[in-house]
Amino acid sequence: MASVQLDGITRRFSQAVAIEDITFEVPDGQFWVLVGPSGCGKSTILRTIAGLESATSGNLYIGEVLVNQVPARQRDVAMVFQNYALYPNMTVAENIAFGLKMRGADTKTQQERVETMARILDITHLLNRKPRQLSGGQQQRVALGRAIARQPQVFLLDEPLSNLDAQLRDGTRSELKQLHQQVGITTIYVTHDQVEAMTLADRIVILERGKIQQIGEPQSIYAHPANRMVATFLGNPPMNILPVTYTGDSFHLEGQKIPCPSTLGDSLHAGQHFDLGIRPEHIRVSEDAHLITEVSVVEPLGRETLIRVKLPTEERSPQITLNVQVSPDLRVISGDRLPLSLDLDRLFLFDPTTGQRIYPTG
Ligand code: ATP
Repeated sequence: MASVQLDGITRRFSQAVAIEDITFEVPDGQFWVLVGPSGCGKSTILRTIAGLESATSGNLYIGEVLVNQVPARQRDVAMVFQNYALYPNMTVAENIAFGLKMRGADTKTQQERVETMARILDITHLLNRKPRQLSGGQQQRVALGRAIARQPQVFLLDEPLSNLDAQLRDGTRSELKQLHQQVGITTIYVTHDQVEAMTLADRIVILERGKIQQIGEPQSIYAHPANRMVATFLGNPPMNILPVTYTGDSFHLEGQKIPCPSTLGDSLHAGQHFDLGIRPEHIRVSEDAHLITEVSVVEPLGRETLIRVKLPTEERSPQITLNVQVSPDLRVISGDRLPLSLDLDRLFLFDPTTGQRIYPTG
């Protein structure tokens, strides 16, 4: 096993910059997740680490070794893709043993590793089957087993669960986490799914348009997003963003008032515009309301209900909507008036132009 360090990695394709000045270090044995919208550069970073893509500039280290010039097959990394193509004519056991065989491991070692992987992945009963006789989830576990069996220094996973249906994905996700706890191989995992990122990662790296937006522990990023992009990317439904104007003692929004937290007032100037952020779970239905809204859509989810509401706006103004998470006991229907109060200790302010967080500071 080994750490992976990227130091100012940039990759250009003719005119376009796919990733720019990417710097981070994954310590030995940790599980890091690269997450971000389509085209943000996740796969390019992973392919660069694997040696399938070469960096235009910057340095890449696996352990202590600078590997910029080291060919992919000598990097001792294993990669699993979304399309994990098992060898169709080989049995499950032969598929798992393949990488070991190629590296000249003796038959006894091959057999022992196959048995260990099969036990960990709970596929012992499938070892003599061919891939076409397996379900999608079972095939995916074989692909993971094949990659891990040869005990690489680094394990790279590119959207490995996205071909599975929702239930299987949830199950395989927790198996993957357990597997990492057992084998402890340094793992870098790419996904656009923020739930996978939150649940699997020791650290998340959030990317947008080829640049790192924030690196941190999942819960810490969720609680302290560095900017509007991160704030709205992590969380489902996402953080609400409201375009407000500070008036000296409160924030105005389409003729309604949101009080300003007392810790904040001194640093603001009347007339300043902000994007005010508030998560759906930090809004309450209350007659002591900050905002009067109208219910648009009600989505009962069993444990909670999600309500989409709209604010009354001037005829020509763009529609402002909010997502609110409420108790399933609340009975409302589309068109109902809904008074809402915001948890003022949980407000965020973002610069409307740069998107950077202004409040809370630090
Ligand atoms: P997705 O989630 O859709 O797979 P991603 O975050 O993995 O996206 P990348 O595949 O790394 O994104 O691509 C990053 C950017 O680099 C994109 O704008 C993409 O169009 C561009 N890109 C990637 N590979 C090439 C290539 N071979 N030639 C030109 N541009 C490329």
